Amino acid sequence: MKRHGPMSCLLCATMISVVAILTGGCNSRGGQASESVAPDWKMQRENMVSQQIEARGVKGPLVLESMRTVPRHLFVPENYRDSAYNDSPLPIGDSQTISQPYIVALMSELLEVQSGEKVLEIGTGSGYQAAVLASMGVEVRSIEIRERLCERAASTLSELGYESVRVRCADGYGGWPEEAPFDGIIVTAAPEWIPDPLLEQLAEGANMVIPVGDFYQELKVITRTAEGFEERSVIPVRFVPMTGEVERQGTP
Ligand code: SAH
Repeated sequence: MKRHGPMSCLLCATMISVVAILTGGCNSRGGQASESVAPDWKMQRENMVSQQIEARGVKGPLVLESMRTVPRHLFVPENYRDSAYNDSPLPIGDSQTISQPYIVALMSELLEVQSGEKVLEIGTGSGYQAAVLASMGVEVRSIEIRERLCERAASTLSELGYESVRVRCADGYGGWPEEAPFDGIIVTAAPEWIPDPLLEQLAEGANMVIPVGDFYQELKVITRTAEGFEERSVIPVRFVPMTGEVERQGTP
């Protein structure tokens, strides 16, 4: 028993110093610990692409690379950043939403555009879809009807250096005739019918990707051919309604 006394004390002393070292270590590592729990956005994007986008069949290398690169979390309001790479749409203010990542990727792929071509987007929203296209090397002209969203998106895009995107604050019903024809048109708000000016501004051989409908909407691809237009439905979708002139004119 006697022999255990000093041994125990030695053990005590050792344990105390171990605790002290650990405590010190914890404190000094406090900064590192909080850094290491800071979100790894790049890894979140990798997972988003493999689990939500590639897994559902989007294959275009340009689209996938762009989805791996564009910082989606910087296009959503700060309080939604942690959910930025979730498999869902998110609110961006003014009762509008940024689309689910898979839908952004799918629509970008359905456009079938190449680097250097020019695309018109109706419904800039957060600016994220425009950034994804810009990161594919596409020249983007994007129109947003809501002033506040329009200004915010324009400043996010310019702060992040997306110089090939030009944003106009207006009703997109009439398109952007000065910049037509377009090698692709992407509409990210749903009209009940397709505005003629947008069809007119589509180049021959180009695709328009557009959700059409009221409550029940179909994502459609309209291709301009030498003879006219071909139309196909891709999947059922749910977008915010296109407002402005198309709404004023009502159901056809
Ligand atoms: N593409 C966006 C999401 C768009 S949400 C993104 O990546 O975040 C749809 C947007 O379309 C909304 O911001 C809405 O204000 C806008 N919108 C609705 N009707 C419009 C119209 N007639 N012209 C231009 N924008 C319109």
